[in-house]
Amino acid sequence: MTSDVPPLLLETHFLDATEVPMLAVDLDGRVTDVNSATLRQSQRSREHWVGSEFASHFSDRGEAEEVFREALSCCGLSGRSLRVPGADGQVAELELHLACAHDANGQLLGLFVEARDITSIKAAEQRLMAASHYARSLLEASLDPLVTISPDGKIMDVNRATELITGRSRDSLIGSDFSDYFTEPEKARAGYRQVFSSGHVTDYPLVLRHTSGSTTDVLYNATVYHDESGHVAGVFAAARDITQLKRSQEALESTNREVMLLGQMTGLLQSCRTVEESLPILRETMAQLFPGSSGQLLLLRPSGNLLEDAGTWGGHPQSLQTAPPADCWALRRGHIHDIGFERTINPPCRHIDADDRPYLCIPLLAQGTALGILHLVIDPTATTQAQRLHYRHLAATAADSISLGMANLRLRESLHAMSIRDPLTGLYNRRFMEEALAREISRMTRANKPLTIAMLDIDHFKRFNDTYGHEAGDIVLKDFALLMSSFREGSDLACRYGGEEFLLILPELGPEQARSRLDGFREDVGHLNVMLHGKPLPNITVSIGLASLPAHAGTSANLIKAADDALYRAKQGGRNRVEVATAGHPADKAAADAGGTPASSGAA
Ligand code: GH3
Ligand code: MG
Ligand code: MG
Repeated sequence: MTSDVPPLLLETHFLDATEVPMLAVDLDGRVTDVNSATLRQSQRSREHWVGSEFASHFSDRGEAEEVFREALSCCGLSGRSLRVPGADGQVAELELHLACAHDANGQLLGLFVEARDITSIKAAEQRLMAASHYARSLLEASLDPLVTISPDGKIMDVNRATELITGRSRDSLIGSDFSDYFTEPEKARAGYRQVFSSGHVTDYPLVLRHTSGSTTDVLYNATVYHDESGHVAGVFAAARDITQLKRSQEALESTNREVMLLGQMTGLLQSCRTVEESLPILRETMAQLFPGSSGQLLLLRPSGNLLEDAGTWGGHPQSLQTAPPADCWALRRGHIHDIGFERTINPPCRHIDADDRPYLCIPLLAQGTALGILHLVIDPTATTQAQRLHYRHLAATAADSISLGMANLRLRESLHAMSIRDPLTGLYNRRFMEEALAREISRMTRANKPLTIAMLDIDHFKRFNDTYGHEAGDIVLKDFALLMSSFREGSDLACRYGGEEFLLILPELGPEQARSRLDGFREDVGHLNVMLHGKPLPNITVSIGLASLPAHAGTSANLIKAADDALYRAKQGGRNRVEVATAGHPADKAAADAGGTPASSGAA
């Protein structure tokens, strides 16, 4: 810089009016002039500035020198920000605009520098950025899918959760129609219209589709938002994934259903009279309790030596009718046996056809007695590990209820058998016979069919007893009963009437057919070989009286009386013979005329 060049000066009268600090800097980088805004804002004197090095006033001197050089080489530079230590000790941020100054011949003289203090603008900008970053982070951190939608239904913004739940990128979502991503787009649009009409919607249920084809149940909460001038700018919608909630609800509902089913089953089993009667109830309960699965109930015979099919459900093959108890591992070990449920070394049961589907065998046990097994097969593709665990618990609970019900029914059956059977011969007792006869008479009367009863009395049984002893008499009674049982056909009923008297009920049989059948029986009795301690006892004979409905009587009491009378005649006639009642049906009327129904005469 040569000294004969006149110093570059600002037009002070013009530039001192501005509040923006301005400096003139020569080619050597020295300040040659400043305006009064520079002096005011720096709180420094003109002497401090003029002649000083331009770059020396900045926090980063090197950066300032670089800006200066760049401005010279490019002949001006705009919008560069540099920091300066302020008069108050704080660092201020300045935005510099540098322009080249030339003389009249176009000779470069230096730079005019305008330095605006942008500290407060920058701070506000930063606060704004921080606030918007905070808001964005909040949106992104939300696990709920959030979306803003324009008034014409186009997506304007989404968060990451929306990308995850739809399987689509933010770019592909923005600008597309918001209703495209629901299983029911029309319902979604109806919800959107509702937001506009009432300002918001709460818990609006929709189902979102994922690109993979899977769906998510969600509840939408949406509200309109406004621009600065108060116009509706769009809708802000937040979805809540309720899959887990739904799953819990479904699990609760299914548990309730299971508890209810088991409760109903237990109640019904208590009202059953026989095991046979309970089986359809058990099959139906199992089918409903384990939908999609199949199974079989196998019950042990009361003797305990054979498992028998007691019914299948869910399309289970019915191939297995009986099996030895040892074929089932669950019965052998007395606890649940699973195949394909967990990693075990369990061998498969022998009562199962070769099949690789997982199954459970649960022993039915009551008071330490095995009653049978509950066999359940499940579809391996349909269940998770957790479901299998639940299945196992449920199966064990069901087996407990079945066992209890079965044990009660078996007890009831044996009590009932005891109450209706004669203990010596095993034939029905007189009490049961009376009920059965009344039932059969009304059944045959309704069907307009005959019925015959046979009263049988062993001849000279007292003498037999007296000669060979009571034990011999008992054996004769037992063998006689066995012969009667094998003589019985169809719905015939054989009963011990008392002592050495027996009664046969022969539905659908008229007197003549009955006479010929009973005559055959009488002959068989004559050939009965009864042994006592390995020695044969003498043969016995029987006398038989027959009476038929409607030919001889119309009521059970009259029928028995007529048969008894016929038996009396057989005894009188020399024993070992069959006699048929002679009195016709109107005898009932005669009995009624006589003022009542005569009791059995006890003829024999
Ligand atoms: P009738 O040919 O006229 O029928 O002569 P009966 O001796 O067979 O007839 P009665 O009624 O006089 O005798 C029946 C006998 O049957 C009397 C009784 O000792 C015997 N008796 C009854 N119940 C049983 C029983 O459970 N066991 C044995 N061993 N004998 C019985
Ligand atoms: Mg007798
Ligand atoms: Mg007798």
